Amino acid sequence: MSASDWEAVVGVEVHLQLATESKMFCGCPVRFGAPPNTLVCPVCLALPGALPVPNALAIRHAIRVALALGCSIHRESRFDRKNYFYPDLPKGYQISQFDRPFGYDGALELPSTSAFAGHRIRIRRVHLEEDTGKLIHDADPRQSVVDLNRAGTPLVEIVTEPDLRDADEVYDYLRELHLTLSYLGVSDCDLEKGSMRCEPNVSVRRRGATELGTKTEVKNLNSFRHVRDAMRYEVTRQIELIESGGSVVQETRSWNPETGRTAAMRAKEEAHDYRYFPEPDIAPITTSEAELDAIRSELGESPAARRARYLETLGLPSEHADVFLHDPAMAALFDATVAEGADAKAVAPWIVGDLQRERNERAERNASTDVLAIAPASLARLLALVADGTLSTALAREVLTAVLDSGESPDRIVEERDLAQISSADALTPAIEAAIEANPRAVEDIRAGNDKAIGALVGHVMRTTKGKANPALVNQSLRERILGA
Ligand SMILES: [Zn+2]
Repeated sequence: MSASDWEAVVGVEVHLQLATESKMFCGCPVRFGAPPNTLVCPVCLALPGALPVPNALAIRHAIRVALALGCSIHRESRFDRKNYFYPDLPKGYQISQFDRPFGYDGALELPSTSAFAGHRIRIRRVHLEEDTGKLIHDADPRQSVVDLNRAGTPLVEIVTEPDLRDADEVYDYLRELHLTLSYLGVSDCDLEKGSMRCEPNVSVRRRGATELGTKTEVKNLNSFRHVRDAMRYEVTRQIELIESGGSVVQETRSWNPETGRTAAMRAKEEAHDYRYFPEPDIAPITTSEAELDAIRSELGESPAARRARYLETLGLPSEHADVFLHDPAMAALFDATVAEGADAKAVAPWIVGDLQRERNERAERNASTDVLAIAPASLARLLALVADGTLSTALAREVLTAVLDSGESPDRIVEERDLAQISSADALTPAIEAAIEANPRAVEDIRAGNDKAIGALVGHVMRTTKGKANPALVNQSLRERILGA
């Protein structure tokens, strides 16, 4: 048997830490990097008699995530206790959701730019829960210590159906999910800080089989590349294990990016091992149609809709569309400039190319100018001056720099610096005559049929007009004078 006789079956769980001011069930602040055990209270320390109070904003954020992923919403949702013992979980259980999560039955479609374009990855559920604390094993040589600052931080968990078949497909799904979530303003979605954590469930089966194989869950993945690498390794490991007569054990494994291998961490519990039951200290959460409508109205344009608008409606090349999809500030300037009447395909390279270059240059010399704060009307006017022949592209770049430095309008700068392109043949006559007089050799060469010699004459005219002559007109006028054509 070869690897092609097998297929991978993968589902992905993503935990997203919500950017709320306070924790899920108490008023402690949510903050990254504070001194250990300073952001705690009786509720998140699980002291006897302390009662949880759900964070309304976290619930709103969770519903926002669910709606953005096309989920149906349980109008009456509920929190449940998930019982397990672990040193970073002070209560001995986690408040999570079991059979009444906020969102269920959604889907995320992979984008037209993916090799898996159009694949719909079904979202099984979107639920809300609290994060655990953090065990730290390298702070003390003799013992492990625990920091409970993170305990009780609101987390949204997004679980797919086992719809993914390929490591690259998982990678593309995670990138599209990250983009979608980053548009919602509910989390910083920072993988390195652990705000977004991905755990794929990987199993393999013989091609054509319908039953699912035994799955392993991989943890400790803090980049999408690691997810892809870990999944490739895990699929190969499982196939080799089965082919050599062994069987896959249901367990949680951790990825080691240094060795490029996964290793067993602990046996994975089945749902019934967690003895879920409804959280008795929190009443069911009801969401009215009016509340749902309000959350829906705040969603804004999705990345998928924006991508379609840029690529299909406006016809932008995908490299420009991609920059705007991932840079909301650039996208906002682009949209506003197009709204001022500028041609979309003409605006895009100015923002992605010239403004980006100005931004980098200013960053290098620590200038505080925010180049993206340029008035959209100014940028639109600059492009109009190029389109009607008033400015050459080179001079337009100079004007752009001056607009950014001074905040003046392009027209004002063109007037002040006398930059308008000379586009009348009469106005060019003295410069044309001077160029012919100064370059007799080049004139002879042109008459002898050496077309390239005209470059020297055009250059002469551009120099004497300080770059303001319209090059096409200079070329044409020179030919008329020299060749009489
Ligand atoms: Zn607390």
